Amino acid sequence: MTGSEAAERRERILRAAVRQRLLDPEEAVLAGFVDLDGVAANVAELHRAFPASVSALHTFAAKANCLVPVLAWLREHGMGCEVASAGELAQALAAGFPPERIVFDSPAKTRGELSLALELGVAVNADSFQELERIDAVLASHASASRIGVRVNPQVGGGSIGAMSTATATSKFGIGLADEGNAERLLRAYRERPWLSWVHVHVGSQGCPLELIARGVATAVAFADRVNGELGRRQVVGIDIGGGLPVDFGSDGSGPGFDTYAAALRRHAPRLFDGEYRIATEFGRSLIAKHGFTAAYVEYTKTTGGRPIAITHAGAQVATRTVFAPEAWPLRISAHDPSGARKDGEPLAQDIAGPCCFAGDLLARAHPLPRLDPGDIVALLDTGAYYFSTPFHYNSLPEPAVHGARLDAEGNVHFRLLRPAQTLAELLDRSGR
Ligand SMILES: *Cc1c(COP(=O)(O)O)cnc(C)c1O
Repeated sequence: MTGSEAAERRERILRAAVRQRLLDPEEAVLAGFVDLDGVAANVAELHRAFPASVSALHTFAAKANCLVPVLAWLREHGMGCEVASAGELAQALAAGFPPERIVFDSPAKTRGELSLALELGVAVNADSFQELERIDAVLASHASASRIGVRVNPQVGGGSIGAMSTATATSKFGIGLADEGNAERLLRAYRERPWLSWVHVHVGSQGCPLELIARGVATAVAFADRVNGELGRRQVVGIDIGGGLPVDFGSDGSGPGFDTYAAALRRHAPRLFDGEYRIATEFGRSLIAKHGFTAAYVEYTKTTGGRPIAITHAGAQVATRTVFAPEAWPLRISAHDPSGARKDGEPLAQDIAGPCCFAGDLLARAHPLPRLDPGDIVALLDTGAYYFSTPFHYNSLPEPAVHGARLDAEGNVHFRLLRPAQTLAELLDRSGR
């Protein structure tokens, strides 16, 4: 899908949402939308990027968009699921993923969570030596069909967003391979545990250059080769290369793409493609971010200190990272009239504010957009991952509805509710009693 096609689809979805009152200035002032066909196209692109000669399980990182119908849609299109908490595991099971297509990663798995995962046959990646000992204890009492691996930290360095960089020298994730004595200690752990048969690595997410990610994967593959070489047996049978392909939040371009990433992997870790290892991947953002957006009504406008300000219904509750770390997570915003049509007019520098009661609740500062008026709609683009699916409950603002959209050959939009808006009764229910 080209950038202008994506923009055209978005506008069609927005206008249809207004017509069908999924957006309404009184009843539905904020909603999320997912272009389901766009997501399916990305999934197909991912599958095409890896050759059929390699046995690959592509999993979706549930934290990027944990809505059960979204997960089920991804499952129907051939994905597995990566989870990192008991909640995400429950969501993956509810979405119908068979346990052997679920991978459980988390640095803080409890004994109970490990027992459950191993009992179900969910794949587990241990994050530490201590976790391996807990797995020993579980396996001593019952056998498991789970594939079990260890997350290594290749310590190749970070990308441009510190919070997203997991392969730094002191990252909290995995076992640091470059630390004095660790590789030897980990080798012993594999020698003593013939069931330890995968190596897992996830270098990081948005902000990490492809070359850095590919070097991290290459380090993991070299370690797997070393384990098999020193043990004189093919104990490590699979490499889980994580996710992390960055997306382009600055334009409607699609970013580097899965084929570009596969080419970088071929350069840095050619062994990954010679068929000796099975592969698992765990992409999140790159599969869905560009195919979701958030729409909110402008409730009021004002000018303060010479700065025009639009008060909208989207703020930190649905765009938490953008509000708290605007330099790292800028979002594109488009302006629409009450019908959902793109607004034109001279760009004017406006603050686009949210409804939360703190002054920093701004989606963008001095952002050039056609002058916004009450009743207009703003769309926050590329919010399919890590935005409306991960709400922040500030000011008791309810979670908005999220709608899936499909376009037929005539360009008609068909909606399907992915998550209803949170009701006041549900909100009260979560407010203690
Ligand atoms: C978050 C995460 C992913 C997905 O990262 P994206 O940047 O969304 O592709 C994959 N694996 C692990 C272990 C993660 O923590």
